[in-house]
Amino acid sequence: MATHSEQLPLFDPATGIADGPALAASAPAPARSRQSRPGAPSGARPRSPARPRPSERRWRERAFEVVAETLWPTRCAVCDRPGTPLCPDCIASLPYIDSLLACPRCGAPFGRVQCTECNRVLLAAFGYEEPPYRQATSPLVLTEKVRRIVTVYKDQGERSLARPMASLMARATPPPWLDDDAVAFVPATAAARRRRGFDHAEHLARELSWLLDVDFTPLLATPRRLDQRRLGRIERIQNMREALRVLPGATVPDAVILVDDVCTTGSTLFAATEALKAQGARTIHALTFARA
Ligand SMILES: [Zn+2]
Ligand SMILES: [Zn+2]
Repeated sequence: MATHSEQLPLFDPATGIADGPALAASAPAPARSRQSRPGAPSGARPRSPARPRPSERRWRERAFEVVAETLWPTRCAVCDRPGTPLCPDCIASLPYIDSLLACPRCGAPFGRVQCTECNRVLLAAFGYEEPPYRQATSPLVLTEKVRRIVTVYKDQGERSLARPMASLMARATPPPWLDDDAVAFVPATAAARRRRGFDHAEHLARELSWLLDVDFTPLLATPRRLDQRRLGRIERIQNMREALRVLPGATVPDAVILVDDVCTTGSTLFAATEALKAQGARTIHALTFARA
């Protein structure tokens, strides 16, 4: 594992916190969050005619926080233990991909010597000679436990998971990628974004931008569709090729770290990479939280 992780801002598994930018300031409010605290200090409280003294106000706020934490506590996404979005025991027990055994091209967990995911014969069946990206990597294998983290993050609106997730991704990032020009992300469809109240990959990319000290740069437009679940790999790639486009007017830099939450068939990353390369990018490094 690269030593660059020593340079990264420290993530404290005990608190789930690393010193970093306040995402809340840059992101829209969640539609539904396990941590949402109605009336918490950032929310708009109605002004009462007789405003309480500062000490009284602080006491009320503190009392409300205690009640809110009791009613809507932060819990570990995996084991449900209260306290942090991802507890130290669960972080330690995740199925990490060993970079010394993984495929140096596509990041498949045991593809170092002979990869079954990105060899020429297999790729030829999908119309490729080689993966369009330069390299792809993920810290984790997409097991049930890891899938649960992604589900709690995306579909239950637990945005506080973005930081520990991004922290694990940052530690799996090969040092040469830190010279890239931009961190971009694969955007969710408009419907998914509306449903969740945020774009999960954008949130991860913003965190990664800060952790890796590489500029956050949205480059891809919101895809027009689509549910890929019933499609085979060839159909998925074709579907995504039509759906993913570079944002109108965006200047695509030379080298880009492309962020998504998971890589299952690779079709989304392939299509997003092709779109960016068609507009001038030369090197795409694909970074996902987990891969199948
Ligand atoms: Zn746990
Ligand atoms: Zn491979």
